[in-house]
Amino acid sequence: MTDSKNSQGTPSSGAANFTAAKKDFLSFDGGVRANGVVAKPSSNNLKDFVEIEHKLLKRQKPRIPMGAGLSFGAPQFGDGVVSVDHTAFTRVLGFDDETGLVEVESGATMAHLYNFLIEKERYIVTQPGYPSITVGGCIAVDVHGKNHLRDGTCVAQVASLKLYHPAYGIIEASSEVNREVFDLTCGGYGLTGHILSAKLKTKPVTSRRMALMNLPFDDVSLTPRMLKECARNNDFVVSWHDMTASGAGFGRGFLMMGKFFPGDGSDEEKQYGGKVSLNWGLNAYSRRWPASPLLGSSYYSLPFTRFMNVFYGSMSRSSQEARTIAIYDCLQPMTRLREFYYRMFGLAGFHECQLIIPDDKFPLFLEQIEFAINRFEIPITLGSAKYFSGSPNLLRFNGSGVCFALNFPRCTAGARFIEFIDRLCLEEGFLPYIVKDSRLPLSVVEHCYGEHYHNFKKRLKAFDPERLFQSEVSRRLAL
Ligand SMILES: Cc1cc2nc3c(=O)[nH]c(=O)nc-3n(C[C@H](O)[C@H](O)[C@H](O)COP(=O)(O)OP(=O)(O)OC[C@H]3O[C@@H](n4cnc5c(N)ncnc54)[C@H](O)[C@@H]3O)c2cc1C
Repeated sequence: MTDSKNSQGTPSSGAANFTAAKKDFLSFDGGVRANGVVAKPSSNNLKDFVEIEHKLLKRQKPRIPMGAGLSFGAPQFGDGVVSVDHTAFTRVLGFDDETGLVEVESGATMAHLYNFLIEKERYIVTQPGYPSITVGGCIAVDVHGKNHLRDGTCVAQVASLKLYHPAYGIIEASSEVNREVFDLTCGGYGLTGHILSAKLKTKPVTSRRMALMNLPFDDVSLTPRMLKECARNNDFVVSWHDMTASGAGFGRGFLMMGKFFPGDGSDEEKQYGGKVSLNWGLNAYSRRWPASPLLGSSYYSLPFTRFMNVFYGSMSRSSQEARTIAIYDCLQPMTRLREFYYRMFGLAGFHECQLIIPDDKFPLFLEQIEFAINRFEIPITLGSAKYFSGSPNLLRFNGSGVCFALNFPRCTAGARFIEFIDRLCLEEGFLPYIVKDSRLPLSVVEHCYGEHYHNFKKRLKAFDPERLFQSEVSRRLAL
C-alpha cells in the first residue's frame, strides 16, 4: 500500500492502492511534450482501478492506459491527462496445452511472453520489433509483425480480452461475445478503457533456430512482387532500401528472409532457445546521449547517412549465405543496434512515416519520394518495407500493398519533407500509421481513413458518451 497523497496535491483520505505523480511526457519520436500525471495501481485488481477513479479522477479528469510508452506518437499521454501505468502487471495467468492459448496480464512484454512460451515450444506470430513493448500496447494499437500477408495484424491473435471501463465495470470481449467492445478496443488506442488481461493465440515453433538469408536487389520497383512472393514461403520477410543513393541506385537494397529450421531436438538446437533479458533501455529520453558538443542534435548529417547506408547496404548485400540465428533474433532483430540507432538522433528526435501503398501506385510513390528526398536533401536513415494483405477497418493500420517506412531527423528539412508526404497522402490516399507520427494532421487521417475514421468516432461516442479516456492523439484527431 502506498499513500495516495500525490504531487498534484490531491488530498489523501488515508492509504491507497495506487501512487500518482506529475510527469513531463515526451513522445518517443521527440515531437510532443505534455504535462500529465502517472498513476500506478498496486495490482491488476478491479478495486485498485476503482480506487483511482474515486480518489484521483472523480469522473472529471481524463485518463488513458499506458504501456511501455514506446509509441512514436502520444496515444498514452496528454496535457492534464492521467496516464494509468500497466507495466507492473506481467503475470502469465494460464496456458492451455490443447489450444495453445496463453492468458497474460496487459503489462506483460514481448520478452515476458517469449520466455514463457519458448519453454512450451510456441510463440506469438505477430510481434512488434522491441522486447519491452507490452501486450496492452500491441492490442490497443493493433500492431503488425514480420509477415502480415500470412499472419495479419495483432487482432487476429487475440482470442479474448478483459476490459475495465468505469461506467461498465469489467467487460469480457471477443469476436463472439461483446463484439462491439472487442472491435473498438483492438486498435482503439486505449480509448475504450483498460485492458486488464488477454488470451492470445500461439503457434508451435518447429525449431528454436531460424535460417536468415539476404537477397540483394538493384531495382526498387520490384519491391511489391519480391516481398509478396517471399512472404508466401518464409516466416519473416522485410526489405531494406538505400533511399540516399542517387540515380539508378535509388532504393537498391536487400530482402531479409527468415525461415524456421525443421526441428531435430538436438542439444545444438537448444543452445538457440535461451531466455532473454527483461530489461531494455529504449525510451524518449535515451536519446540524451552521448555527451558531446553535438548533444541534442542529430548525428545524421546527409554525408554521414549516405556513408552509413552504403556501408550497411554493401555489407548486407554481400553476405548472401544463409545464417543460423535464434528465433528470438528474428522476432526482435538487432535490438542493441536499434537502441544505438535511435540515440544518434539526439534529443530533438526523428520522424517516422509508415504508409500502406497499393501495388499499382508504388511506381508513383517512388517517383515522388525520390524527387522530394533530393529537393529537400533529406538524410533518410531507414527505408524499409513489408507486404500487407488486409482490409482497412476503423482506425486500424491495415490494407493491401507495400507498407513502407521512412526515418529521418526532426529538423527544418525533415518538417518540409513530411508535409510533402502529407500532401501525397491527401492526393493518393496512402494510409499513414497513426501511432508512428506524432504530428499527423487530422485532415490527413480524416481523408485517408475516410468512412472508417467517422465510423470509429461515432461508435466510440456511442460506447462512451462521456469520453472519459483521452490523449494527445484523441484530441488532435478530434475523437
Ligand atoms: C523499436 C520499436 C519497434 C517497433 N516495431 C513495431 C512493429 O514492428 N510493428 C508495429 O505495429 N509497431 C511497432 N512499434 C510501435 C509499437 O509497437 C506500438 O506503438 C505499441 O503500441 C507500443 O506499446 P507500448 O507498450 O509501448 O504502449 P504505449 O506506447 O504506452 O501505448 C500505446 C497505446 O496503447 C494503449 N494501451 C497501452 N496499454 C493498454 C492497456 N493495458 N489497455 C488499453 N490500452 C492500452 C495506450 O493507451 C496507447 O493508446 C515499434 C516501436 C518501437 C519503439
